[in-house]
Amino acid sequence: MTTVAAYAAPAAKAPLERTTIERRPVGEFDVLIDIKFAGICHSDIHQAREGWGEAIFPMVPGHEIAGVVSEVGPGVTRHQVGDRVGVGCLVDSCRECDNCKAGLEQYCTGGNVGTYNAVGKDGEVTYGGYSEKVVVDENFVVRVPDGLSLDVAAPLLCAGITTYSPLKHWNAGPGKKVAVIGFGGLGHMAVKIAHALGAEVTVLSQSLRKQDDGLKLGADHYYATSDPKTFEELRGTFDLIISTVSAPLDFGAFLALLRADGALVNVGAPEEPISLNLFSVIAGRKTLAGSSIGGIRETQEMLDFCAEHGFGAEIELISASEINEAYERVLNSDVRYRFVIDTATI
Ligand SMILES: [Zn+2]
Ligand SMILES: [Zn+2]
Repeated sequence: MTTVAAYAAPAAKAPLERTTIERRPVGEFDVLIDIKFAGICHSDIHQAREGWGEAIFPMVPGHEIAGVVSEVGPGVTRHQVGDRVGVGCLVDSCRECDNCKAGLEQYCTGGNVGTYNAVGKDGEVTYGGYSEKVVVDENFVVRVPDGLSLDVAAPLLCAGITTYSPLKHWNAGPGKKVAVIGFGGLGHMAVKIAHALGAEVTVLSQSLRKQDDGLKLGADHYYATSDPKTFEELRGTFDLIISTVSAPLDFGAFLALLRADGALVNVGAPEEPISLNLFSVIAGRKTLAGSSIGGIRETQEMLDFCAEHGFGAEIELISASEINEAYERVLNSDVRYRFVIDTATI
């Protein structure tokens, strides 16, 4: 066991504080990673505050991890000491179900293991990236390409893959009109990726406050959803809409913006259920779908894609002592566009 410093929530809704945790010894197929940067995802806050239900405390959040390999187990073949690597939302899965075999570990039916707030196959609670080091099975560690700095790569491990996966699955590309609801951590990545895929991209944000950034990062159009005229003007426009919002939305109003056979894909995770008039999907044979992060293979593909196109996330680098303040700012949509913790300050 190795004792490492970390930031943890001692109980639901309690502020995070500095503490120490134990990391397991490096096993045959394990990689020890010196964590350099950890992104703050909205879902860290949902879980640390038990917004999604009962959670395990103390909790060390963080599933946007970027660092450098400092030790490998004897059976490791995929990574070497010194490699720049990342870890996202999963650190294990059953590896035997149809979804695991298809590289869709995020939809594992045999039980996958979250990077934190979960229990691993060894029966131990998992702790996430707000810490100095982590031990992870090599199959759940991805390579950060040379062209990407680790700080801007960290948020790609959740925000990047969560938006890349549905954009690819629903064929965003040249000739396709794609809208992104919400322009925050996930939304700004959806815009960058959809633009790089060649789609015509529209941001649907509450206000025009971040319009300049949206257009700069790759959007072709930017509309305020607080303006009822937006919904009249854009009726029947889009092939694909990705909703990145973590609050309940009027999905019926957004489904009306799709063309026939269009799809609205939700990747946000609101704490409350929604109600929907089903005529909004019957008319126009529309799809209302969901998508959750991505598999390990696709996460590597996404990192390679971002490096090839020369972008990471837009970040605000913070020290660990600023985590609680950063949480409040995320809840107020006051971040451009992802907080990343410099773990050297833990
Ligand atoms: Zn996340
Ligand atoms: Zn599985």
